[in-house]
Amino acid sequence: MTYLYETARNRGIRYFLISFTDLFGIQRSKLVPTAAIDTMATNGAGFAGFAAWLDLTPADPDVLAIPDLDTLIQLPWKPEVAWLAADLVTPQCEEIGQTPRLVLKRVLKQAANLGYQIKTGVECEFFLLAAEELALSDPEDLQPKPCYDQQSLMRRFEVIAEICDAMLGLGWGAYQNDHEDANGQFEMNWQYADALVTADRHAFFKFMVRSIAEKHGFRATFMPKPFAHLTGNGCHTHLSVWDGTGEQNLFLDEAGELGLSSLAYHFIAGVLKNTQALCAISNPTINSYKRINAPVTTSGATWSPNSISYSGNNRTHTIRIPDAGRFEFRLADGAANPYLLPAALIASGLAGIEQKLDPGPRHDNNNYTNPLPCETAPKLPGNLLDALRNLETNQTLTQALGKPFVTAYLKLKHQEWQGFNQVITPWELAHSLDA
Ligand code: ADP
Ligand code: MG
Ligand code: MG
Ligand code: MG
Ligand code: MG
Repeated sequence: MTYLYETARNRGIRYFLISFTDLFGIQRSKLVPTAAIDTMATNGAGFAGFAAWLDLTPADPDVLAIPDLDTLIQLPWKPEVAWLAADLVTPQCEEIGQTPRLVLKRVLKQAANLGYQIKTGVECEFFLLAAEELALSDPEDLQPKPCYDQQSLMRRFEVIAEICDAMLGLGWGAYQNDHEDANGQFEMNWQYADALVTADRHAFFKFMVRSIAEKHGFRATFMPKPFAHLTGNGCHTHLSVWDGTGEQNLFLDEAGELGLSSLAYHFIAGVLKNTQALCAISNPTINSYKRINAPVTTSGATWSPNSISYSGNNRTHTIRIPDAGRFEFRLADGAANPYLLPAALIASGLAGIEQKLDPGPRHDNNNYTNPLPCETAPKLPGNLLDALRNLETNQTLTQALGKPFVTAYLKLKHQEWQGFNQVITPWELAHSLDA
């Protein structure tokens, strides 16, 4: 096979990153020279699994990363290098079940077996920080209501335009960029696509934003809540279910409530029913729980949900229906794994279809100022431990995502929680020293 070698020669590529995303969303790579790429792509690039977040041991055999050639992207900011998303297998070529990209493929296969193609779009908010300290990069970005702030947006034009131009060049259908609701925060939007395509783009987008920000002397972060008084980084996910050919949107029904079909409402009901457990994946870090259930930010609203409910074009609920033929899941945050987030969302929705669940009536209240009672809209988990315990007992997600994944994920995330619990924080000292 000489496909990648030929591609490299034609496009001036000298190196390839064979890249996989681990359970904590970190991208791991081998940088492979073009001379070796075709052999490596066939046989796989070797990694010591314990060295990444995969719940493997130092005694386990190497894992092999086999790149998916359809994912090839020549780095727009460094065209001599190309990126390839890979799947992990054992030396005997057996799939490693806890690989996030394989977890998503597993769920997409379940959808395909039912005759469905899933399409998703993500909104990945991020902050541009100064390179060396945890501070905003722009000292002039001070407005108390900073959303859509034109002046602050244009002070970062070089970074934002370089990323947007890159997305246009890659054919993602980039269509708008804005300053978001926190000082120093931005969002860049591109068109939805098949869920696996969007997941690969989501992973690559994070790599690209960080890299281009660094090139301009900044640091980009997708951390859910870097500043307690400011709005956090969401990762709203929009989703629709299509027929097997991907031509007919099965969520679309002009006669249905808000233009959604009964299939869409079953799906939404499945998501709502499983949100308590899904939260362990959509909001995967200790810090995630400081974005949700949060006090009002200085802009006037957190824009993140506090309880489990759905609405129409109303941004104060977990699920929003902005338009006919799709819904938006507003709970997810910037730390969500680009593969595990859609996998868990789709698994929950498919269960709703299978069980013909009914989400009940939507709620059109302002859930920030007039929150629904807990019996109507259950509260979200208060911290990561609560969410992990919910995932632990959730059969729907365990079956759909696979036991190897859920076991590995829970083990590593419980370790993370324990690590956090071993730290004595300044807050505790302030509140308990004289207790
Ligand atoms: P908002 O800020 O109003 O929530 P954005 O324009 O920032 O919306 O993001 C909307 C996302 O939803 C985009 O990625 C868009 O392509 C995607 N989207 C639109 N229609 C669908 C659909 N039918 N299925 C899945 N995603 C969709
Ligand atoms: Mg070595
Ligand atoms: Mg948006
Ligand atoms: Mg936003
Ligand atoms: Mg949104």
